[in-house]
Amino acid sequence: MIFLGDYFSIGLVIVLFVFFFDKNHYHTKPSQIFMACLGLTALTAVTDLISGLLMRAEYVPLWLNVGVNSLYFVINLMTTSAFALYLFTKILEHSYDDHCMTYAKRGLLILFTVYMVFVLANLWNGWLFYFDENGMYCRGPLNAIGYILTVCQMVLVLICYLRNRKLATKGMRRVLIQTFPIIVLCIAVQRVFPDVMLNGYIMAMVATILFLNFQGQRHGIHTLTKLNDRHRFFREVEVRMAQKDPFHTFLISIKNLSTINQKYGHMYGDEFLYQFAFSLERLFKNGVAFHMNGAVFALVVPYTTQSMGQNHRSKLLQFLEDGIECFNEQLSFDYIVTESVLEEADRSPGDFYEGLEYAADLAHQQNLRYFRYTPDTGKQMKREQYLKERIQCVDREHGFRVWYQPIYDLETGCFCSMEALVRLQEPDGSMVSPGEFISLAERTGAIASITWFVLEDVCDFLASHRELGEISVSVNLPMAQLMEGGFKARLDSIVDRYGVQHHRICLEFTEREILDTFEQTKQIMEELTNSGYRFYLDDFGTGYSNFNCMLQLPFQIIKLDASLIRITEPLLEGKGFVQSITELVHDMGMEVIAEGVETREALDRLNRQGVDRIQGYVCAKPMKPEDLVAFFQASPQF
Ligand code: C2E
Ligand code: MG
Ligand code: MG
Repeated sequence: MIFLGDYFSIGLVIVLFVFFFDKNHYHTKPSQIFMACLGLTALTAVTDLISGLLMRAEYVPLWLNVGVNSLYFVINLMTTSAFALYLFTKILEHSYDDHCMTYAKRGLLILFTVYMVFVLANLWNGWLFYFDENGMYCRGPLNAIGYILTVCQMVLVLICYLRNRKLATKGMRRVLIQTFPIIVLCIAVQRVFPDVMLNGYIMAMVATILFLNFQGQRHGIHTLTKLNDRHRFFREVEVRMAQKDPFHTFLISIKNLSTINQKYGHMYGDEFLYQFAFSLERLFKNGVAFHMNGAVFALVVPYTTQSMGQNHRSKLLQFLEDGIECFNEQLSFDYIVTESVLEEADRSPGDFYEGLEYAADLAHQQNLRYFRYTPDTGKQMKREQYLKERIQCVDREHGFRVWYQPIYDLETGCFCSMEALVRLQEPDGSMVSPGEFISLAERTGAIASITWFVLEDVCDFLASHRELGEISVSVNLPMAQLMEGGFKARLDSIVDRYGVQHHRICLEFTEREILDTFEQTKQIMEELTNSGYRFYLDDFGTGYSNFNCMLQLPFQIIKLDASLIRITEPLLEGKGFVQSITELVHDMGMEVIAEGVETREALDRLNRQGVDRIQGYVCAKPMKPEDLVAFFQASPQF
């Protein structure tokens, strides 16, 4: 007998094992089966070598020879079964239908049981092999049964592939095309040259093909956690959609990974991510976990009934609440989970993922840990996407307009100032309220263009309507923009180009951002004030006020938010909040505008409480610039 194939296969298995040896590899199911394939291949070759050595040695008891050869026969079929199982797992990787796998396993078990019967029966009747009176190994009449059963296993694999070929990857097809001819060729060679032992060699070749096509591939696998990556997620979703299988997807973002990294170091952060991925993958029997990027993971689970969906949700939330064991201690973390169930393939995988990400954004904005994507979320997202596109180009051609709301001075009884309010015109002529797109513009950065557009429009308007006299205009802008380098230079260049006096331009912002950058804010505001511009503090009383800071900044006017005025409305008697604030603001040399005043009663009350100016529908609504001149000429009194 020539054992060259065995030596060769042991060498090849060692090489594959060395390449494969990376502890993070083990935890996926195919990897574990692949390890078993490698181990069993080596065992096949070693047992074959031992049986060969024993046969050459003198005085070896018959029972030992028979035992080792029987073992060789058993290990042989165990190895081919492991390979078949590996192929089944890879073919059905994207399938949630357990039936096929169950049938496949049953098929393998039946073949193995039949084989065991032959191996046991062989001890008495020598169907597979026997030792003659000289102790020589002889092939029995059914010696080739092992090959026949291996061919049966191959047929099972082929059936499984053909039934699920839509789910199987292209790699799987390639593997089958490469593997089957090699096996058939080797079996044929073995039959023609019975003295050459090729079993171990065939197995090692198959293991190599599998390694090259699947296990050695880094493509599609996240390098740190060894989970499937985002490309595989999209493929998974695509396949699920094509199959019309309802499925449940969770997107999990770990919010404080950077804090964990800073506190414990990056090594710890990596280990945390790895442990998290490891546990996430095991959470649901039928679930597939994905590492999308950074600290974002996804989980795709079959969805059959509502109660099952509910179970998935509670189980995942509980898992996240419990935290992860990392370096022998339990680490809790902050997270956002969004969930979506896809029952009908009405979206592309990209849209589907975008929906989950959008839901995560909403959860983040609302400080929630869990958010479920619903059709309404989808509508909201579409609207936002539409607006996002609209605010990319901020000019008149793209529908941007500036409207003005005159502000009434209670002392002089005339309109002495107005607020510039941006509007976005729809193709049908209707106007989108800034409430809908300003916060979006702040998030996308388009707000800067809006400010410059409004400022330019305001200066143009003032320059071309000298008849308005000294009326000033206030413009809204985010604090952050004020802090940008070159803000003053650009502001000056616009205002001066139109020959507008600086004191007619007032800048309005809310106090939300002041605290973090107080010193810098103060310095920039003083610089602009020295240059003639004035400042209004908008929406005072909306819950962010730090009175102390506010009073130290050079504001000319404090605008009391409409909500504040409405809340204090029942307190008609007594001094009340508005009056106390107004007195304090006056003491500091500033004035007060009451915003959102809608009724005559409120106006009179605010007048009594000492408020200086009124901005509200009771006096004037925001209006188009072309209506303004007529309005000022009519100059109604209150
Ligand atoms: P804001 O600066 O507090 O502007 C006042 C808002 O109250 C305006 O809403 C105005 O139309 C509304 N308003 C005035 N009087 C009344 C009233 O009596 N009753 C009611 N219910 N509402 C009244 P608008 O124009 O929808 O603007 C909303 C917010 O959008 C503004 O609040 C401001 O924060 C922002 N915004 C508007 N234009 C711009 C802009 O050009 N740039 C920036 N950054 N933000 C802007
Ligand atoms: Mg304002
Ligand atoms: Mg306001």
